[in-house]
Amino acid sequence: MRKWNFCAGPAVISEEVLKEVQSEILEFNKSGMSVMEMSHRSDIYTKVAFDAKKDLINLLKVPNDYDVLFLQGGATHQFSMIPLNYKHMSDTADYVTTGSWSSKAFYEASKIFNPIEIFRSEQNVSTKAPNIDELEISKNATYLHYCPNETIEGVAIHETPKVDIPLIADMSSVILSQPLDVNKFSIIYAGAQKNIGPAGLTIVIINKEFMQMGNENLPNILKYSEHSKSNSMLNTPPTFSWYLAGKVFKWMIKLGGLDYFEKQNKLKASLLYNFIDNSGFYINPIDTSSRSIMNVPFVLENSMLEKKFISEASDNGFLNLKGHRLVGGMRASIYIMLCR
Ligand SMILES: *Cc1c(COP(=O)(O)O)cnc(C)c1O
Repeated sequence: MRKWNFCAGPAVISEEVLKEVQSEILEFNKSGMSVMEMSHRSDIYTKVAFDAKKDLINLLKVPNDYDVLFLQGGATHQFSMIPLNYKHMSDTADYVTTGSWSSKAFYEASKIFNPIEIFRSEQNVSTKAPNIDELEISKNATYLHYCPNETIEGVAIHETPKVDIPLIADMSSVILSQPLDVNKFSIIYAGAQKNIGPAGLTIVIINKEFMQMGNENLPNILKYSEHSKSNSMLNTPPTFSWYLAGKVFKWMIKLGGLDYFEKQNKLKASLLYNFIDNSGFYINPIDTSSRSIMNVPFVLENSMLEKKFISEASDNGFLNLKGHRLVGGMRASIYIMLCR
């Protein structure tokens, strides 16, 4: 029996979608084979890929001067692919590090060029995000990188920063949770395994003009422009993940798109935070202005009870509530899970 799964990633996928996939697993669309067994260049698969891209563009209202890429390597690969593409422009960029993932992005970039951390919150005490608009942008910074939703700490930056340099966001754990003004960004990237579908797929939304500024001398596999030219089929893409992501996009559109999900997500998160705050038993340490609507970490007033809590929760059908090993405690990742 399926239970309540609060895993941070790979994360819960709609049962409706999984059932549809189940019904097609042996034979996809009268092709005589499953979608996993066909050429990514076949007409039938090309349509799957194209439809998924079109639906994602509709969901996020991606403007014409952007391309949407379906890549591999996870969000982690973007930590190096971004600086590799843009380090030739000035040898520096600004990073806002509000938790574990943005710190990792900065650390990887530091091996490639000389980025500057214009804000840093220390691990374990990351409970409040800065107002990026009030930070000083470094001279010559090629772009500003930040993470609007720190998956491990549950710290979010809700307002999109207004900066005069290209803005790059790691949206791995927050993409599709609410409508988004893509125009404000030069690159948005996200591993698919939190809010979208199975692991193995990374979505990159990139401004075409910015894409063309990427370093020409890189191997093709590292160039956004080459992936774009080949419709994300420079080499064999993760066909099954792409197909399944397409199913999720269709399901989200059917339910009412991102306006619907935003309402659901805010309702769901406020139910949980209110319960925690009023419980006298659970504590969420994050400043109310920086609370994530996707990942809700909490601890117990009596930390001695945490192990017992996690095991009893699991016995009662609430799975994967253990906090990340870096921060301990508990965490409920609630992504595109619907209230039922
Ligand atoms: C999960 C996560 C990552 C890492 O994703 P991979 O696909 O495993 O590389 C990076 N950033 C954020 C914000 C995440 O939530």
